[in-house]
Amino acid sequence: MSAPTQYVYAFADGDREMAGLLGGKGAGLAEMTRLGLPVPPGFTVTTEACKVYLATGEEPPEMGVEAAHALAELERAMGRTLGQPGDPLLVSVRSGARFSMPGMMETILDIGLGDDSVAGLAKASGQERFAWDSYRRLLQMFGRTVMGVDGDLFEEAIAAHKAARSVSADHDLDADELALLVEEFKALIRRETGEDFPQDPVEQLQRAIRAVFESWNGERARVYRHREHISEDLGTAVNIQAMVFGNLGDDSGTGVAFTRDPATGARGVYGDYLPDAQGEDVVAGVRDAVPLAELEKLDPRSYRQLLGHLGTLEEHYRDLCDVEFTIERGRLWILQTRVGKRTAEAAFRIAHDLCEEQAITADEALARVDGAELTRLMFPRFDLRPTDVPLAHGVPASPGAAVGVVVFDSATAVRRAAAGEQTVLVRRETTPDDLPGMIAAQAVLTSRGGKTSHAAVVARGMGKVCVCGAESLTVDPVARRLTTADGVQVHEGDTVSVDGTAGTVHLGALPLTASDVGRALESGTGTGALIEAVLGALDHADAVRRLDVRANADTPADAVRARALGARGIGLCRTEHMFLGERRSLVEAMILARDDAAREKALSALLPLQRDDFTGILEAMDGLPVTIRLLDPPLHEFLPDRTELAVRIASSSHPDPHDRRLLGAVERMHEENPMLGLRGVRLGIAVPGLVAMQVRAVAEAVVRRLADGGDPRAEIMIPLVGTVEELRLARAETERVLAEVAAETGRTLDLPIGTMIELPRAALTAGRIAGAADFFSFGTNDLTQTTWGLSRDDAEASFFPLYLEKGIFPVSPFESLDQEGVGRLVEMAVEAGRAVNPGLETGVCGEHGGDPESIHFFHRAGLDYVSCSPFRIPAARLEAGRATLTAVQNSDSR
Ligand code: PEP
Ligand code: MG
Repeated sequence: MSAPTQYVYAFADGDREMAGLLGGKGAGLAEMTRLGLPVPPGFTVTTEACKVYLATGEEPPEMGVEAAHALAELERAMGRTLGQPGDPLLVSVRSGARFSMPGMMETILDIGLGDDSVAGLAKASGQERFAWDSYRRLLQMFGRTVMGVDGDLFEEAIAAHKAARSVSADHDLDADELALLVEEFKALIRRETGEDFPQDPVEQLQRAIRAVFESWNGERARVYRHREHISEDLGTAVNIQAMVFGNLGDDSGTGVAFTRDPATGARGVYGDYLPDAQGEDVVAGVRDAVPLAELEKLDPRSYRQLLGHLGTLEEHYRDLCDVEFTIERGRLWILQTRVGKRTAEAAFRIAHDLCEEQAITADEALARVDGAELTRLMFPRFDLRPTDVPLAHGVPASPGAAVGVVVFDSATAVRRAAAGEQTVLVRRETTPDDLPGMIAAQAVLTSRGGKTSHAAVVARGMGKVCVCGAESLTVDPVARRLTTADGVQVHEGDTVSVDGTAGTVHLGALPLTASDVGRALESGTGTGALIEAVLGALDHADAVRRLDVRANADTPADAVRARALGARGIGLCRTEHMFLGERRSLVEAMILARDDAAREKALSALLPLQRDDFTGILEAMDGLPVTIRLLDPPLHEFLPDRTELAVRIASSSHPDPHDRRLLGAVERMHEENPMLGLRGVRLGIAVPGLVAMQVRAVAEAVVRRLADGGDPRAEIMIPLVGTVEELRLARAETERVLAEVAAETGRTLDLPIGTMIELPRAALTAGRIAGAADFFSFGTNDLTQTTWGLSRDDAEASFFPLYLEKGIFPVSPFESLDQEGVGRLVEMAVEAGRAVNPGLETGVCGEHGGDPESIHFFHRAGLDYVSCSPFRIPAARLEAGRATLTAVQNSDSR
């Protein structure tokens, strides 16, 4: 018989490996307790209990018994009972899921207080005001979170009391005033819910736990999970912990500390401290904190202890840790720790530094950074002139450069973003309710709060630009304007530029320039800690990766850039781009040709142009493979629009005969579903001379490069093949022309000839197709369209948002490969192809070739390379390296 499920764990009974069951926070508390750090005692109700509750609407029966037992233990440890009238033990009840979801679920503090014990708390603490303020906070949090009272009603009551006393801060309300407020809050709860605030401390605790369970399904938690791809069915754990108080006077306080700077990754302890305050005040950014270094002066003993604990934690976790701590009358308590969220810059620097300090291996350092972070570092930054004076300075909370129109609330940010506008969300401070707007906006700007305020923490987690605490700005959300210290007014809809690296805001759209990292990657040189860290990670990725990385590039300039960024060849050179611009008229002539001679003439005019293009590209990629795809799109894409032509002809008294012939051709070629029509290999078969012209252009370019002493490695790729018969025909024509040019020039031309696999039928008959192919390149854009039976261009604009919202797609299958469906076809085709042709080379050249998740899949599927646009190459190299590590880890743990 299996052991009965345990739903409640004392902190001393858990450890950091148990994050799935105890949540990140619970596992951290347990680990710190084991390490002997000063953690207020408590216990954790597991995520399993939450899952049972959410599924059935009831706590599992054993949970109540176990929680009662754990509470009795806690009371014994503290020497007081929950809510004990003379000297009450109070507890906090906090959510804590497997993955950090800052501020997205509920917390209730001061559980255990009631009409009897408030006097006891006043006496035991010697502070009447503190006791009434704690009771007031409990009523407010419990009333809102557990009993469902509109939170604004409490805030309005507080505002009325402050107005009556002519004071502006909550702090200025005295004990008598707070006692009156308590009575008002109780009456408010009764009026709004028809129920009294429960005086029984155990009932308070039970209901608070239940409310935290339910907050897993709250609106903002769901939005956050969707954004962060966190699974819906993990559930949250609940941590019940003895309260310690940072608001008992000048010898008390609360703060947040990091073992390194989470914004830049620089070595050295970093954080904020708020004297005489409770923990929530720091994160909410309600009052401005002082830098942690100040604590050394205020309370040197606690400061030294704190540094010691931070050192212990970083050594233990071998990573950046952050802690929340409270000092209660000179005694330091650690309330929470976790491996801290950080910016992309900090991620690279910390991983690199820890590796240099020999705390972690190079493999571990590589595993701790990712392609999305690297891409973010390559984003451009503002190109400032000395005359660009910022509107305001604030705290550089999350780096990057963003331009957008100012909006003052979350809903407007969402609406305007949906209409395609770039926005900057401006708030005094953000709350979890602002989350949808923060997701929709390009940047977040607040006038209050520091690097650990809600805005800063959430924006950093999302990689969103953020400047906070720009105190010189007056934000007026009602009038929808902000005013600078000099009286400049910025209204909703005005454009601003937010520099999250410098912490500044500018009026208007500033010009952008390449980032230092982008520049360094392209030039292969550069100095500074960040660049060293990025180049180090890429070097290691290159050393361990099995997948090669090629580029999708159609011009010599792109090829040069791609090579500088680390591409080892071109995986897709789309030739259709060479048929646009001035050359369009030659394509028109080819299409309109009445006989072979006219067509030949048009094709031979195109030939030298194509040959020059290929020569330039082969030169840029000398010594590396260049996969050239024969023409793919339907020909009508090169002709004018049907309606425009018809209108031009109809509105002219002497219509141009050329226009008439063009219109005839356009009408003949019109297709209802051109993406499933005359394109790809079908075009090569249907239009005489087209394949021959393109192959000749490639072959002559190769000969020219050979003559110049180069090492051209061209490969010819046939698109949109559905059956091996098509490939055989195209291949025979290709080989014929190659032999012809070889004979003419006396050169050997053994160019590999392969095909794209971008139709389900091709994947399903890959074994046969491989008999006629030297390589496969998966065109996962078309393969996704044709497997799903949907048109990318139409679907993305119409029903995709709905599908994403409903969770039918976790992410667009055009962005990240649908591994279960399209991926299955890729695996089958690779396997069948290699069985027939063991030397078959396989790669991918659809958009997915640059997507991190998909790259890991292609590694597992055994492909030889991925090919992506030049800008994505560094991230693809990094992810290809990381994929090797993950694959090794998985096979080790099996
Ligand atoms: C593809 O289909 O994945 C592909 C690379 O070809 P294109 O996007 O040009 O159709
Ligand atoms: Mg395609």
